[in-house]
Amino acid sequence: MSYSFEQHKIVGAIEADDDYWRGLEDGVLRLPRCASCRGWTWPAHFRCGQCGSWDFDWVAVEPRGRIFTYTRTHYAFDRVLERREDVPYVTVVAELPDAGNLRLIGVLKGDEADLAIGAPVRGTIDPPSAKSKFYPALRWELER
Ligand SMILES: [Zn+2]
Repeated sequence: MSYSFEQHKIVGAIEADDDYWRGLEDGVLRLPRCASCRGWTWPAHFRCGQCGSWDFDWVAVEPRGRIFTYTRTHYAFDRVLERREDVPYVTVVAELPDAGNLRLIGVLKGDEADLAIGAPVRGTIDPPSAKSKFYPALRWELER
C-alpha cells in the first residue's frame, strides 16, 4: 500500500513545513533558507525571523551533523505505542553545520556504542510506515 502526503497531514498544522515532509517522501532532506538574508530557519515559518522576508528557498541538505543532545525513552507512551517494541530507544537532536547549525530530531538507528554529545551522525530517511504514523522519518546513525 502506498501513502501520499495528504493522507498523513497533521490536523491543524500551519503548513509552513510541508516542503520538509514532501522532501522526506522524495528521500531528500530539504530545509528552509531565507531568499533575502540567506539565514536558515527551523522550525519552519512563513516569515524570516531575521529580516522579515516572506520568501524561502527549500534547499537540499546533506544529512550530516553532530549530536547536540539525546535522550533514552524507557516507556511506551500513549502517543507512540507504535514504538513499544523498540523501548528503550534513543532520540537524537543533531546540529547540522551545513545548514546554519539547525537542529533536527530523529530516532537513533543502529549501534549506539559511541553515543555521545558531539559524536558525528549521518541521517537516513525511513519511508512512511505504521511505526512512524505514516510519515517519512529522518533517522540518525552514528558515523564510524
Ligand atoms: Zn531573512
